[in-house]
Amino acid sequence: MRSSDSDVVIVGAGRAGHALARAIRRRSQTCTITLIAAHSAEVYPKSAFPAALAANRDPITLVQATASMVAAREDLHLLEESAVDAIDVTGGNVAMRHGSIPFDRIVIATGEEIGVPPALRGNPAVQPLNRLADFHLLHGRLRLARRVLVLGAGVCSCEFANELVRSGREAIVADSARHPLGERLPGLAGRRLRDDLARAGVSFRLDDRVLAVDPISHGRFRAHTACNERLDVDAVVSLIEARPRTALARVAGLSHGVRGIAVDTFLRASADGVYALGACADLPGLARYASIESQARALAETLCGRPSQPEIRPEPMRLNTPDARFAFFAPPAIAGEWQEHATAGSVSSAFLDQAGRLRGFALAGQAVEQRDAWMARVALQDY
Ligand SMILES: Cc1cc2nc3c(=O)[nH]c(=O)nc-3n(C[C@H](O)[C@H](O)[C@H](O)COP(=O)(O)OP(=O)(O)OC[C@H]3O[C@@H](n4cnc5c(N)ncnc54)[C@H](O)[C@@H]3O)c2cc1C
Repeated sequence: MRSSDSDVVIVGAGRAGHALARAIRRRSQTCTITLIAAHSAEVYPKSAFPAALAANRDPITLVQATASMVAAREDLHLLEESAVDAIDVTGGNVAMRHGSIPFDRIVIATGEEIGVPPALRGNPAVQPLNRLADFHLLHGRLRLARRVLVLGAGVCSCEFANELVRSGREAIVADSARHPLGERLPGLAGRRLRDDLARAGVSFRLDDRVLAVDPISHGRFRAHTACNERLDVDAVVSLIEARPRTALARVAGLSHGVRGIAVDTFLRASADGVYALGACADLPGLARYASIESQARALAETLCGRPSQPEIRPEPMRLNTPDARFAFFAPPAIAGEWQEHATAGSVSSAFLDQAGRLRGFALAGQAVEQRDAWMARVALQDY
């Protein structure tokens, strides 16, 4: 039986872990909060990475609060460089390399990892961009780089490539998909995004795969693709689609779904006293559209004895690509078809289910202005 209502252990000091610690402290001055960080625990916005990296911004300028500032402000028990190795959900114990701590209630906020293609894993030339430490490394590599290969053609890759060309560098985006943002968006809209970015100077190698990256001289690399292309570049950045970090939860025996650790609308995982939020959590139905901050507020209320569910506000995603206006609302994985309409200035793509209801959309160019009106028409059910 879990006894205390005044202790919470949070695993993961990213956006979700910090937001939760802050939200709990706003609601309770007495709750003992232990925040466990695998590495350092400063607060920084990953959303600023693409533009800041391309602009050679010093990593230190991204830090909004240092770990010691946060620990003092929120009165936290903060453990840095303390990756959790195992969670015993029955015994109520968290094991780290240098010791273990008991818990009554635990929140898993281990986030997501940016992948590196299997053939390139362990290759020191290929640098993922996910943490501030990655930013530090790439900041050094990119300062003198003229030509950069970006692996993956997802949202972050498009944003980063656009910023790179704006900074006067060459950017090549490689992906096995036939157009940016993968196969879940329709061809006409995806190709418009590609063409707008290409006009701004971004090169694409789509429907192809980078198989190897070899050093050719100091700070210079040659990438080989499945279509027999050789690309000589100064840096290789991986922004392959992010995947929820669920290994800890799986080993602990917690249920998981396709999008992460399975939780209910109160963010409760499948064991008593265990919760998850943020990018590692798979919220049911429409709750998946709740922002991390809204999840944190609701969970803080729950942990303070007032069970609450996050506010849900489904919104289209808008790309931060100054040279390509693009917004989309990805449809659920259901049967249906895309209907696309293009004019000189825009593309509007509607995903209709078998009953003819709008379930998702993609808008490029001037049509982006209409995104709120499109959103209002989406039939939000069976998500
Ligand atoms: C380049 C880039 C640009 C982005 N741009 C945007 C944007 O514009 N808008 C937007 O909404 N989102 C954006 N995102 C996504 C956004 O950053 C994530 O959704 C958000 O960071 C998720 O927060 P989180 O706390 O769940 O996970 P994370 O921020 O990934 O934090 C998880 C933390 O858990 C720690 N951890 C993992 N395992 C353990 C362990 N075993 N023990 C202890 N600690 C552990 C990790 O070290 C990490 O600090 C971007 C992401 C990237 C990489």
